[in-house]
Amino acid sequence: MTLLLYDDIYLKHDTAPYHPENYKRLECTIDHLKSAGLWNKLTLVSPRAATVEEIALVHDRGYISRARKVAEGGGGQLDPDTVLSRDSYQAAIYAAGALLTASDLVMGKKDTNAFCLVRPPGHHARPARGMGFCIFNNAAIAAQYLISRHKLERVLIVDWDCHHGNGTQEIFYNDPRVLYLSLHRWPFYPGTGGKDERGNGEGDGFTINIPIREGTSPEEYIQSFRNVMNGSASAFDPEFIIISAGFDTYAEDPIAGLGLSAKDFATLTKITMDVAKRCSQDRIVSCLEGGYSLQGLPLCIEQHLNALLEIT
Ligand SMILES: [Zn+2]
Repeated sequence: MTLLLYDDIYLKHDTAPYHPENYKRLECTIDHLKSAGLWNKLTLVSPRAATVEEIALVHDRGYISRARKVAEGGGGQLDPDTVLSRDSYQAAIYAAGALLTASDLVMGKKDTNAFCLVRPPGHHARPARGMGFCIFNNAAIAAQYLISRHKLERVLIVDWDCHHGNGTQEIFYNDPRVLYLSLHRWPFYPGTGGKDERGNGEGDGFTINIPIREGTSPEEYIQSFRNVMNGSASAFDPEFIIISAGFDTYAEDPIAGLGLSAKDFATLTKITMDVAKRCSQDRIVSCLEGGYSLQGLPLCIEQHLNALLEIT
């Protein structure tokens, strides 16, 4: 069974129509999933909101209240790219909450995985700072929640967004309980994610960065992904896998791109599911990060969901 976590509040995070991270990304995706006949195959779940205590598992409390104040005061900017409107704080706590709802359900039920169709995205959000369209770090909050609430000891975050998830890396840089694995275009925004960034102290070796040069073929990209998933990621023996699923490596993405086709996301998903089957009792929660082609994003998500549902 594949759960789809979604709430209309995500459409109300208003970044302005010209902003690449806008509500049409979800609207176009839902329309497409309905017309492709996939919507009815998914089990729709309404997410709960994450509490301040849960968000504070990885974020500074002062930052959380500042984000709330800016939003509820009518909106503003957290950085030059990261815009808040009046409903953005609500959207952000329900985005983080979707991963917590999904994590509880996947922990409680066999043969169940989940995709969280959420915005704002999360992987650039740092402990005390929003950044790169991200307010709270949805994947990091969920990983820390699985450790503190479900007493897990090894959580793998697989980040295949085209950008490096600098926020997620920073949050777990010293922590051996979370293996953060990222493939990303490099050199590229946000500038972090070099091969030599491997974690620190007890966390040394628990950050794996695979920088990908522009012009790398999709075949080579997928082979690198397969190698690290079957190698270091499997050796970590994760109890749970969170996917930071960005779809901006898609060839036609307007702000990023690495030449991948929509079908390639089914392949990445299947490789991840094979590791989950071997190591983590099939436990996968995936969440939307980037992906800005309004035509391509729905096709990529369709392929990702087909694989999660095991219908391809
Ligand atoms: Zn991205």
